[in-house]
Amino acid sequence: MAAKRVVVIGSGFGGLAAAVRLQARGFEVHLCESLPDPGGRARTFHIGPYAFDGGPTVVTAPFLFEELFALAGKRMEDEVRLLPVDPFYKLFGPSGEELSYNGDPGFVLPQIERIHAPDGAGYLAFLEAARPLLQKGFIELGAEPFTRVSDMARVAPDLVRLRAYESVYTFVSHHIQHPFLRQCFTFHPLFIGGNPLKASSIYAMIHLIEQRWGVWYPQGGMRALVHALVSLFRDLGGAFHLSTPVEQILVEDGRVEGVIAGGHRIPADAVISNADAATTYLRLLPPSATPKKTRWRLERARYSMSLVVWYYGLATDRVPDALVHHNIVFGPRYAELIRDIFERKVIADDFSLYLHVPTRTDPSAAPPGKTAMYVLAPVPNLSARIDWDGEIERLQARVLQFIEERFWPGFRQFIEVQHRIDPFYFADDLNTYLGTGFSLEPRLTQSAWFRPHNRSGSIRGLYLVGAGTHPGAGIPGVLLSAKIAEKLVVRDLGEVTSHA
Ligand SMILES: Cc1cc2nc3c(=O)[nH]c(=O)nc-3n(C[C@H](O)[C@H](O)[C@H](O)COP(=O)(O)OP(=O)(O)OC[C@H]3O[C@@H](n4cnc5c(N)ncnc54)[C@H](O)[C@@H]3O)c2cc1C
Repeated sequence: MAAKRVVVIGSGFGGLAAAVRLQARGFEVHLCESLPDPGGRARTFHIGPYAFDGGPTVVTAPFLFEELFALAGKRMEDEVRLLPVDPFYKLFGPSGEELSYNGDPGFVLPQIERIHAPDGAGYLAFLEAARPLLQKGFIELGAEPFTRVSDMARVAPDLVRLRAYESVYTFVSHHIQHPFLRQCFTFHPLFIGGNPLKASSIYAMIHLIEQRWGVWYPQGGMRALVHALVSLFRDLGGAFHLSTPVEQILVEDGRVEGVIAGGHRIPADAVISNADAATTYLRLLPPSATPKKTRWRLERARYSMSLVVWYYGLATDRVPDALVHHNIVFGPRYAELIRDIFERKVIADDFSLYLHVPTRTDPSAAPPGKTAMYVLAPVPNLSARIDWDGEIERLQARVLQFIEERFWPGFRQFIEVQHRIDPFYFADDLNTYLGTGFSLEPRLTQSAWFRPHNRSGSIRGLYLVGAGTHPGAGIPGVLLSAKIAEKLVVRDLGEVTSHA
């Protein structure tokens, strides 16, 4: 019997993983990517002699990638080398405080105790309290589909017992008192588009994922990982179509029939959309196919913030000693800055930053004698009414002045090339609703069953992977969404007639 055909829309990590999984299972997979290069948020910007990781820089839970290679009978370490990052992060407070952490409490505790002695015991208590969150939220439920209300009802008692209704900030504050240390152990939701003051305490598990499986960086940059997945998919026999935007998902009698991609009709038994969940329902499906209720929910959902990222190619390899690979610099306000970004939706005068300096782990991340780095600032999404260009330029001037004063005298004189992405990049190039960095905000009321499901409840044969669906943004989350989609497609597809 001819193989059943699956079209995957988008080559972010979620789409690539779903494509590899289903091709390895014997389906005939076509992966359509609208851009000329793969990876979505994890794509690479090549500017002059420099290559910049466009988005993610922190690899956690590497076993989720290893599984993909194992499905094809390969070993990941033969294809991509993951380098350990140590320390995981260095965090800088507004009053000169500093904390570097890794997976060794013996390294972290003395630093915590120097800042606020009682918080040493508090940190250990926080790790202990977060352990059941990791167990339940990631290990037990991370790869489970939440497509029926009964799936949610089943876990509700656990969520109550684990106090998942509390925010990450409240959860951490039960154990840690010092304001800077609270920032250090509550910023993680920002990495997946969440507001630490609102994101469910379940997301405190991110710190434990790092502790348990480490923080890694692919030698040669994120593109090494993206290209290894593309090769894996092609070697399995998958068809990868770059510069091929899916213009429409075709639906007949409530069932997916295929897609129109690059002007051509590709019939399919199933379609897996790795495009933003809101984009999928509001723009890629014919309006009559999306139920009004779904449309209403997506239009009123709470969306994550956006980002401005400036990429700098520097004519020096003399990076100041203070900077490590992953640097997080907190501004003078924490909670109020978060409210400016998520609620008041303004670009404030102050900022918090993430500085990515990959040459600290992988010297080959820049040409010899040079540095390739990026500076990231969270900003509101496009629902804000802002003079974007003017505000972002003024923000950049303040950020550069700050970098020179705090870390790197004369930084500007080393800049050889630069590039910027902003909310319009996410909206226009990546096709993301409201130009968010991470799709729907991860709140309890937008998680698990409350998030757009991995299998559409209204259109048979349509599946979703990626940041906007369950379990959510971040590389581990989107890889898990692909694992769930695979389970669902395999479970369902016997009922669908083959087009091949
Ligand atoms: C700056 C930044 C830094 C981050 N840092 C980290 C980090 O360090 N660690 C971490 O774990 N996570 C990080 N994240 C989050 C993580 O990168 C994302 O959640 C994840 O990569 C998103 O993957 P995805 O599967 O949702 O697909 P996406 O990366 O969103 O890709 C979707 C793809 O679909 C394509 N597409 C859209 N519409 C169509 C269409 N109609 N036809 C064809 N193709 C289409 C797009 O072009 C895109 O290639 C970061 C995100 C950003 C933005």
